Amino acid sequence: MRSVEREGEIVNEIVGGVRRTKVLIVGSGGNGISAAVLLKQAGIEDFVIITKHDDFGGVWHQNTYPGCGVDGAISIYQFSYALNPEWSSLFASQAEVATYMCKVAAQYGLYEDTRFGTEMLGAEWLEDSACWSVSTTSGTYHADALVLATGFLEEPVFPNILGIDSFEGRIFHSSMWPEGYTGEGDRIAVVGTGSSSIQIVPAMQKTAQEVTVFQRTPCWIIPKNAHVFTEDERAGFRESPEILQRQRDEGFETGERMWDNAFLMKDPTESAKFEDMARKYLEEQVPDPELRRMLTPDHQFACKRPGASDTYYAALQRDNVELVPEAVVQIGAGSVRSADKREFEVDTIVLATGFLYGGHILHKVKRRDGRTVGEVQQGHPRAYKSVEVSGCPNLFLIGGAGPNGQNWNGLACGEIVGTYLVKVLQYMEEHGIRAVEVHEEAETEWKRQTDEILARGVSLAGGCVNYSQDDTGHNKAAYPGNQRQMAADLCEFEASVHHVVA
Ligand SMILES: Cc1cc2nc3c(=O)[nH]c(=O)nc-3n(C[C@H](O)[C@H](O)[C@H](O)COP(=O)(O)OP(=O)(O)OC[C@H]3O[C@@H](n4cnc5c(N)ncnc54)[C@H](O)[C@@H]3O)c2cc1C
Repeated sequence: MRSVEREGEIVNEIVGGVRRTKVLIVGSGGNGISAAVLLKQAGIEDFVIITKHDDFGGVWHQNTYPGCGVDGAISIYQFSYALNPEWSSLFASQAEVATYMCKVAAQYGLYEDTRFGTEMLGAEWLEDSACWSVSTTSGTYHADALVLATGFLEEPVFPNILGIDSFEGRIFHSSMWPEGYTGEGDRIAVVGTGSSSIQIVPAMQKTAQEVTVFQRTPCWIIPKNAHVFTEDERAGFRESPEILQRQRDEGFETGERMWDNAFLMKDPTESAKFEDMARKYLEEQVPDPELRRMLTPDHQFACKRPGASDTYYAALQRDNVELVPEAVVQIGAGSVRSADKREFEVDTIVLATGFLYGGHILHKVKRRDGRTVGEVQQGHPRAYKSVEVSGCPNLFLIGGAGPNGQNWNGLACGEIVGTYLVKVLQYMEEHGIRAVEVHEEAETEWKRQTDEILARGVSLAGGCVNYSQDDTGHNKAAYPGNQRQMAADLCEFEASVHHVVA
């Protein structure tokens, strides 16, 4: 870990058992990387990244199951400041994305700023010294500003199934894949049919003796049309980076339109078009009417996160795969029982049961009044423009760490909020401000408007139920506008809605 001189003060160094830094970033996923890169580009070098992982990449470091890869086109699922001409395919694999993120981190010298294997346990604001005191598994940090880039699909959900502890075979969550496990010759139960499951099932089908897929709710699936780039195409990208930029720009416009029209339902016919496409794809891929019936969702397209796959439907129709359209209700020493009382003998259970959106990170942050944010917000999480929380000076949330921080591209928030973070820090520096804290009224009003906008969107319309809903039934995940909107909302520091401490 470097130490840096700042106005005669030693920073990023242990003083009295406490490491001191200007900015502490928690998280080494794509959004933590972008925040750090933007700070560096603005000349703010005094920061530390901590992460409980032992490398960069976040979800791409953590999720290593066979078949894991992006389900949105890689032309836009990459950093705008590091367009990569070397992707093997339009839908790159987990390993490729993880390697790319490590490479970008190395290119920007982030390894020396990062403390790996370090989990944030709690954070509290110290009024007297106007800084965050952050306790971690590797000691305490004091930071003027705390940035939480801790992800939104990070904390696995383990189902509470009767007898689960009695299982004597292998059982694991999809995000905790045993290293090197291929499923060779095994009878495998896959519980859940969300985005991870539809990647795992085709991969396991190739090696396993049997794969039984337990489905509580089917999801809409659209084809990826995964194009594999040829060496000639890659050479073209290397020679003419403007091709990559053009692909990105086109993908961006499509994503923005889709978010506005299909998700926020500014044009409901757009959502209907996607649903038609998914229905047609299902009809083409699955000739058996009974299997097709089991796979047909009864919710509107995008009410629940739609999947993208070219291989899932085909895999389900192979001889060694069975779809059971029932929940698992009991697990025995070597078997799984479905709700329709059928018993399946299995060697391995894969819990593709998803994640707790946003996790519990805000339960670890204490406000100025000593209560945690989670405690105060009572199951209705909110942050002003998804970034700032009242009662928490100099706290910045990025991506899913911030309620309502997500849009159609999980990597975009890091760049948008990172840019805002730099602006706030520069504003503070210029005006001799030590702390900024958003007014509670501004936060409440922003959340009220957000709830109203999202209630009209597809995630809540018609009584839709999904993982983005909070305890009060509101959407805690989505930003109430597209990326352009988010960037415009966060284009400057608004002194009028903040308390400032000089
Ligand atoms: C399998 C999978 C596939 C996905 N595919 C796509 C896709 O194709 N397109 C898309 O747009 N989105 C996708 N997503 C969503 C994905 O979460 C986002 O795209 C994006 O990766 C989020 O980046 P992040 O940096 O905010 O969080 P993450 O990548 O989740 O990183 C979180 C970081 O925070 C750290 N952390 C968390 N808590 C603590 C703590 N208490 N102390 C210390 N460190 C902590 C972790 O170690 C990690 O480094 C996918 C998610 C999963 C799980």
